[in-house]
Amino acid sequence: MEKIIDEVKQGTALTLNTTTKNKRKLYIESYGCAMNFADSEVVASILSEDGFSTTQELNEADLILVNTCSIRDKAEQTIRKRLTEYNKVKKTRPHLKVGVLGCMAERLKDKLLDEEKIVDMVVGPDAYKDLPNLIKEVDSGRDAVNVILSKDETYGDIAPVRLNTNGVTAFVSITRGCDNMCTFCVVPFTRGRERSRDPQSILQEVNDLWNTGFKEITLLGQNVDSYLWYGGGLKKDFEKASDMQKATAVDFSKLLDTVALAQPKMRIRFSTSNPQDMTLDVIHTMAKHKNICNHIHLPVQSGSNRILKAMNRLHTIEEYFNLIDNIRTIIPNCSISQDIIAGFPTETEEDQEDTLKALEYVKYDFGYMYLYSERPGTMAGRKMDDDVPEVTKKRRLSEIIALQRSHCKYRTELHLGTIQEVLIEGPSKKSPDEWMGRNAQSTVVVFPKEQYKAGDFVNVKMNSCTSATLIGKAVGYSDNN
Ligand code: SAM
Repeated sequence: MEKIIDEVKQGTALTLNTTTKNKRKLYIESYGCAMNFADSEVVASILSEDGFSTTQELNEADLILVNTCSIRDKAEQTIRKRLTEYNKVKKTRPHLKVGVLGCMAERLKDKLLDEEKIVDMVVGPDAYKDLPNLIKEVDSGRDAVNVILSKDETYGDIAPVRLNTNGVTAFVSITRGCDNMCTFCVVPFTRGRERSRDPQSILQEVNDLWNTGFKEITLLGQNVDSYLWYGGGLKKDFEKASDMQKATAVDFSKLLDTVALAQPKMRIRFSTSNPQDMTLDVIHTMAKHKNICNHIHLPVQSGSNRILKAMNRLHTIEEYFNLIDNIRTIIPNCSISQDIIAGFPTETEEDQEDTLKALEYVKYDFGYMYLYSERPGTMAGRKMDDDVPEVTKKRRLSEIIALQRSHCKYRTELHLGTIQEVLIEGPSKKSPDEWMGRNAQSTVVVFPKEQYKAGDFVNVKMNSCTSATLIGKAVGYSDNN
């Protein structure tokens, strides 16, 4: 039930192929959401043009960059601990420079330089193109900070270097920032206002990925359903666009349609959806294209209307259920996953009951569940007391996790006996003789390797399962090969 994309790779040092012309060694580590991992690929691309090759050895680094997350306090504490490890390395390599990137850099700005003496450079998510200049600054002995948030930066013109890639699946960023202002969430403050990336540059990246052997992409954004390209600029300024810009604007369902048509064999996923912005058009587009995977990650956060309102989620639980009903009618075998926060301020036992009822209603395939963590600067942080005792939060979270686990088992078991297409991502962690892949619904499948290889689309008969993993046997290639 752990966050698959996020947690497994936390803190992984990312590397790309060494080029001999690049003499300085960059050690880049990423924490947090998939967006951060995608951003690190943009950073590596920028720095590969500036004399750096990557290393996985901390002890041979000339520059350490850590791409950080602020979503919960625990995420920031993890980074602070990590900085003490870098400090040990700095003692033996005095020329080593350390830069903090991402959300924690944006949240704390130059305060981070005072609080963490080891840090030489603080760079927010919209300032990565300035890294070569900032590195020159720190090379000349000065600290460097750039945390300016942008109205139009999407890094659409930078071809990300794929780091630690399995060569099969890749992330493609389509929007940056978020305008939703959920009262618990730090993202609008750390990643700025929402803007969308030029669809041409998205298509170019998807085509390049296909041509280099990738078989699955995940279109990424804090709120993908809100994607809107009208020639550049902030989403909130769309009203001021010309009639021509409005008439030719591309929304998320059009983007999905275009990408699906451009590469009809490429599997397409997207994350994250926000219930208030997801339209029926998107669901119909999913239904229309075989290569758009039938999985929607649809955070609910709480099942209580009172709490949803306090969170500034702009929908009721009844509207959410209506959306779920529509998804199930239009795409009957669509898997649905959730994010839930336990212990938001003022949450009562009745609110908790409503959340458990929402879980029962949807019976999600899987989910990511968190204890509420107050974030400074957010509306809830400023206006509400974090008044649910820690022990109550933890008890509620474990009730939610236990129920979700039973639904996960229920959903996984529904696949038993079927034959489904699986895209092989790589060897299974548990056995070198087995492949690991996913079906369209994003359920993990393991099966004996036989003659198949990573990147193959294989039909697999699902014979048994654990609560979250299907165990099968390949019966042949799928017609997508
Ligand atoms: N944009 C998406 C949305 O809100 O629907 C997801 C963004 S966030 C990076 C991922 C998840 O972290 C959220 O869906 C929420 O469940 C959780 N989260 C965000 N802020 C939190 C906080 N202050 N405490 C606990 N969990 C939080």
